[in-house]
Amino acid sequence: RVVYLNGQYVPESEARISVLDRGFLFADGVYEVIPVYGGCLLQEDEHLQRLVRSLEQVRLPNPLSLPQWKSVFAELLRLNPGPERGIYLQVTRGAARRDHAFPKAAEPTVLVMVNPISLPDAELLKTGVAAVTLSDDRWSRCDIKSISLLPNVLARQQAVEQGAAEAILIRQGLAVEGAASNLFVVADGVIVTPPKDRHLLPGITRDLVIELAQQQGYPVMESVIPEDQLSVAQEIWLTSSTREILPVTRLNETPVGDGKPGPAWQQMHAHYQRFKKERQAL
Ligand code: PLP
Repeated sequence: RVVYLNGQYVPESEARISVLDRGFLFADGVYEVIPVYGGCLLQEDEHLQRLVRSLEQVRLPNPLSLPQWKSVFAELLRLNPGPERGIYLQVTRGAARRDHAFPKAAEPTVLVMVNPISLPDAELLKTGVAAVTLSDDRWSRCDIKSISLLPNVLARQQAVEQGAAEAILIRQGLAVEGAASNLFVVADGVIVTPPKDRHLLPGITRDLVIELAQQQGYPVMESVIPEDQLSVAQEIWLTSSTREILPVTRLNETPVGDGKPGPAWQQMHAHYQRFKKERQAL
C-alpha cells in the first residue's frame, strides 16, 4: 500500500513521522474520510469544504489548494486499486519541541491514505444493528473533525462490549449523534435529525440523506431529539460515509419499532444506492 506523506508517495511501511509530531503528542490536527465507489469520490467537494472549515477552526493553514488535494486523491486511488475504498486524510500542526502553544515554525504534517471499506452486508441490512445509549463525554466543539477521538473510542468500545454496533451519545437529556455517525429517528411519520450545532459533527451523509429525503417529498425536520423519544421512535438510523444508512433495530436490548428495519429506511436506503450508482455513471 502506498500513502501520501508530506508531498511524497511512499510505501506505507516506509512512511515515517517524528515522535515530536503534535498529532501524536497533543492530537493537534483534523481529518476527513471520503468514500470512493468505483472511481467516484462521493461528495468530494462537500468533504473538502468541511476540511477547510475544520482547519480554519483550529487555526491551521490549508497546506494544499483544492486542486492539489484532488490530484493527490486521484494519484493515490490509481496506486491503490480496489472496489470500495475510503480516502483518509489528516493534517497536524507538525513536529516541534513539546509546548502547548503553537510552534513558531513548524510545517504541517499531511498524510493521505486509501483504506478498503466494508459496507454493511446484505445480512446486516436485513436484521439491522443494536445500539446503546451512553453519556456524551466529549468537548463542546464536536463540529470540528478533530483527530482527538478518545471519548468516541471509549464510547464505541463500551458499545461493542455490550454487543452493540454503536453508542448513541446523550448530552443534557438530548440524543446528539453516534460515536462515529449521525442520528435520525422516524417519529409520527416524520424523519427527524438534530440541527447542526457545536455538539455534533455536520455529517456529509446526514446532509445527503436530508437532501434525498426532501427530493422524494418525505417530511424531514431538523429538531432536537430528547432521549425519551428514542424509546418511542418507529425507526432509528445512523449515517456515516463508511456505513451509509444503518438501521438500528435494538436499543438498549429493546426492539425499535417491530424490531426490523422499517419501511422509511428501506426507501431511503434504495434512494441512497440509486444516488451512488448515478454518480458513478457520470
Ligand atoms: N459524527 C461523528 C462523531 C463522526 O465521527 C462521523 C464520521 O466518522 C459522523 C458523524 C458521520 O459523518 P460523515 O457522514 O461525514 O461520514
